[in-house]
Amino acid sequence: MRNIRTHLFLIMILTVIFCIGVTGMIINISISSHFKSYMEESQKKREDRIVASFESIYSKDKKWTTVSGIELQHEAHMSNFCISLLDDKKNMIWGMDPKLITETLGFDNMVVSNHKGDYVSKNLPIRYNGSVVGYVNIGQYSDLLLTQDDVDFSKKINGSIVIAITISIVIGLAVSLVVGKQFSLPVRRIAEVSKKIANGDLDARASYETKITEIRELKETINDLADKLNYQDDLRRRLISDVSHEIRTPLNVLQNIIEAMIDGIYPINNETLELINSEVIRFGKLLNNMKSLTYIDERTDNVDNKPVDLDILIKNILEYYKGEIDSKNLMLQYENNLSDDDVVLGDEDMLKQVYINLISNAIKYNKTEGKLKVTLLETRGIIRSTIEDTGIGIKKSDVPFIFERFYRGDRSREVTEGTGVGLTISKKIVDLHKGSIKIESEDGKFTRVVIEFNKIIKV
Ligand code: ADP
Repeated sequence: MRNIRTHLFLIMILTVIFCIGVTGMIINISISSHFKSYMEESQKKREDRIVASFESIYSKDKKWTTVSGIELQHEAHMSNFCISLLDDKKNMIWGMDPKLITETLGFDNMVVSNHKGDYVSKNLPIRYNGSVVGYVNIGQYSDLLLTQDDVDFSKKINGSIVIAITISIVIGLAVSLVVGKQFSLPVRRIAEVSKKIANGDLDARASYETKITEIRELKETINDLADKLNYQDDLRRRLISDVSHEIRTPLNVLQNIIEAMIDGIYPINNETLELINSEVIRFGKLLNNMKSLTYIDERTDNVDNKPVDLDILIKNILEYYKGEIDSKNLMLQYENNLSDDDVVLGDEDMLKQVYINLISNAIKYNKTEGKLKVTLLETRGIIRSTIEDTGIGIKKSDVPFIFERFYRGDRSREVTEGTGVGLTISKKIVDLHKGSIKIESEDGKFTRVVIEFNKIIKV
């Protein structure tokens, strides 16, 4: 396993070496080939010049002597090639010994282009008035002869390439160290924070500032995750305290009543047995709520798709709660502008559960002689229902969490019992029906729940 820094470092160095190597090779090959053609050209010019010299000598004397053009030997000595003069029958008139080049002449100053050392020579015709009057034989120990300057030039180019490679590697090294640090440091810091969170420190947060989008997103995601875990943890604590609270109260009541009965303080009659029964019913309710929450939670999106008449559904629920509405002296108002054919598609039992939860909350959390307003209105294909009460309201700080399971607002705890799952179930059901639900409330004044569904026209 390698860390980001080492990994980047290796990639960078290998890339630099590769790029410079390839560039160096291309430069070297192209310089060599240009250099070779330049040398070949100058050799050709030299040969033409030597042939022209012999032609001019012949044009003066009209014959060859053993000293014709002998002075050209000097240049040949200096430049490490051999010249021989041959007549038109290729008989030698005079000639240099190739061995002299290697033994006595300045061969050390010259470098052959391919160090094979084979002696190569060629006969170049010397012409006078269009006919060949002799040959000059030019020979040397290589196809090309390079002077020390030529070799030095080529060496310098290679040297420069090596220097360029070295400088590039050093720069690449420095850059990779800096860049590697930019990547590895924030990732390491974030990893440290994640470890802390994993070890239970849910307040740990990553704070490293970086301009790299992905790393910033990673940081935000980790912090978000920690927030959620923190919140879930909080919820779990609340759940335990809520459930134990909910169970403790009816249990205490039951225990007191039963003890009083045993001690003979409390009579065993219908009235007292009913009291016990109502506490047992509360237990049952709590368990039922938890059960339906689990059930709804497991549902994905396969709900019934039957037409549901919300008007009838709501009217029935209001009728069912008539007793409670009356006993609290609530002023009930129901508005409805749906035509008989306006329905929503869904699961009637589930939708009933939603309106039971909301209407019962609006009664439960209402003040005596408060208002309970239910509306069912259709606008542009949307069926919008509102359940509004003038009760205890919900604190602003509680509103964002009100649909979370087991969440109970501070106010409601003071006023009445509950399990904090009714709204969670309602939201889940509305979501399953592709509708929307939201709560508007003002602490101590009112609460309004707004639900919207797409309308279907019954055929
Ligand atoms: P429960 O009523 O059993 O506590 P719910 O899920 O129905 O559970 O509601 C969750 C919380 O939302 C309640 O505890 C209460 O704080 C708040 N709430 C819901 N409806 C109302 C309302 N009509 N008026 C005031 N508070 C409400």
